[in-house]
Amino acid sequence: MNRTTRTLAKHKNIALVAHDHCKDDLMNWVSLHKASLNQHHLYATGTTGHLLEKTTSLPITKLISGPLGGDQQLGALISEGKIDLMIFFWDPLNAVPHDPDVKALLRIASVWNVPVATNRATADFILSSPLLAEEVAIDVPDYQTYIEERTK
Ligand code: PGA
Repeated sequence: MNRTTRTLAKHKNIALVAHDHCKDDLMNWVSLHKASLNQHHLYATGTTGHLLEKTTSLPITKLISGPLGGDQQLGALISEGKIDLMIFFWDPLNAVPHDPDVKALLRIASVWNVPVATNRATADFILSSPLLAEEVAIDVPDYQTYIEERTK
């Protein structure tokens, strides 16, 4: 498929997700970086979002809880170009009931070239990047041309 670019604004749409055993770690990480994250628009899956709001008082757009469809909602937002970064403290040591949704979410983030942190070290690298506060052009599938070619 051809490629095109999508421009990420200076103020990013950042998705935050944590599996249950990783929620404390995410709360701690977000609290530590509250001032920086407050410059952006934050989204989160349901339980993560409610806990983050309570812990940090940051405004969060909350989706449905992950196992009830929140991961799929987030995947849909990514497909629509509405999410610029994803911080996903994914649990590699415990099984979750919605494993297919997790896989689908990570897949669709790769399709749309969304930067994803699946652990704290990567999240630190992303947050300390100068690109976080800049306009950035990312390479994405050229869906418009694809659909025009398929339907002519
Ligand atoms: P939760 O979902 O924030 O509702 O716990 C996270 C997940 O995707 O498991």
